[in-house]
Amino acid sequence: MNCRHCGTALRCDFLDLGFAPPSNAYLTAEDLSKPEVYFPLRLQVCEECWLVQTEDYASAESLFSAEYAYFSSASTSWLAHAARYVEMINSRLGLGRESMVIEVASNDGYLLKNFVKAGIPCLGVEPTASTAEAAEALGIPVRREFFGEALGKQLAGEGKGADLILGNNVYAHVPDINDFTRGLKAALKAGGTVTLEFPHVMRLIEHNQFDTVYHEHFSYLSLFTVGKIFEAAGLRIFDVEELQTHGGSLRVYGCHAGDSRQTTEAVTALLGEEQRRGLQAPAIYADFQAKAEKVKNDALAFLLDAKREGKTVAAYGAAAKGNTLLNFAGVKPDLLPYVCDAAAAKQNKFMPGSHIPILHPDEIVARRPDYVMILPWNIATEVRQQLASLADQGTRFVTAVPELKII
Ligand SMILES: [Zn+2]
Repeated sequence: MNCRHCGTALRCDFLDLGFAPPSNAYLTAEDLSKPEVYFPLRLQVCEECWLVQTEDYASAESLFSAEYAYFSSASTSWLAHAARYVEMINSRLGLGRESMVIEVASNDGYLLKNFVKAGIPCLGVEPTASTAEAAEALGIPVRREFFGEALGKQLAGEGKGADLILGNNVYAHVPDINDFTRGLKAALKAGGTVTLEFPHVMRLIEHNQFDTVYHEHFSYLSLFTVGKIFEAAGLRIFDVEELQTHGGSLRVYGCHAGDSRQTTEAVTALLGEEQRRGLQAPAIYADFQAKAEKVKNDALAFLLDAKREGKTVAAYGAAAKGNTLLNFAGVKPDLLPYVCDAAAAKQNKFMPGSHIPILHPDEIVARRPDYVMILPWNIATEVRQQLASLADQGTRFVTAVPELKII
């Protein structure tokens, strides 16, 4: 296979998680009597542009089905993050009634509704029908398509070129990152700004976050590599912020290559840090498999010990990252009988691969397990607050990443 960005032949392995079904392919009770499709889940790194990427197997169409169950509005901390962003960017760019904002992967309108409220014209791009419908119900116009160069040019041609194009947690999920980036270039007005948020591969490596690897997540990005991809499309990164979201993300600010805005010191400093940590050399990538296996083995040992001791364990958060961990570890309902999740669309379904049933959060409160394993460790604080009544009654909380921790 060749690098999705620069075309160089890939020879450097990063992570092999075996085979797994798409992590958002939640199953109904009927699905449990049918065969389930597994794809290899392996990552390699390009030694030319240092793009960490999944091997090519599944097509985007099969991964993002109309049934896709993730609704951004289900997470209160994510909603607050979106509202803070809109306030910040409106004031930084001075957006108003004459401006145009496009959000790629606008999901259920969790973010654009803040622009609607501020009276700023906006447009969502969202291929998933169920979430697009939810956004339209909030008064947000939505194009139900995948974003790329063709749509970017079409939007510009229709007079819908944007002063701001934003993409939160979509950049790492697009199969053709070059085409997507050319789409940003095409849809961006002169003097316009692009902001993208994505998990920072430097933090993934630092904190053993192998469970953020899944098929739908095609790229694992550094500032260095995103800078290269932008440059190839005629864009430039002029600022960057480090965020706490998803275990450590970047928010990059992009503009047309010839824009007069100066590149900030933050960009230079972070490029220097990535270089110092060895992100542009093979060693750091070669060491990662053993770290992932240790985390997986410790999580499995915890579940086995709890079972032998007659303790009850439940999981909270039917997140994609939980599916990666559970499927890598081979966990089934005998070790983890149920998982609770606040998202109504996931309830009464089953986790792909492990077939662990997903229940309403009231169930975990009613059943009072000895341990609650919080699968989405990035919202562990929020979950512990929601389940404070359980902690008062002696339930203990467990997270597996970056290392097994019992709280
Ligand atoms: Zn490359």
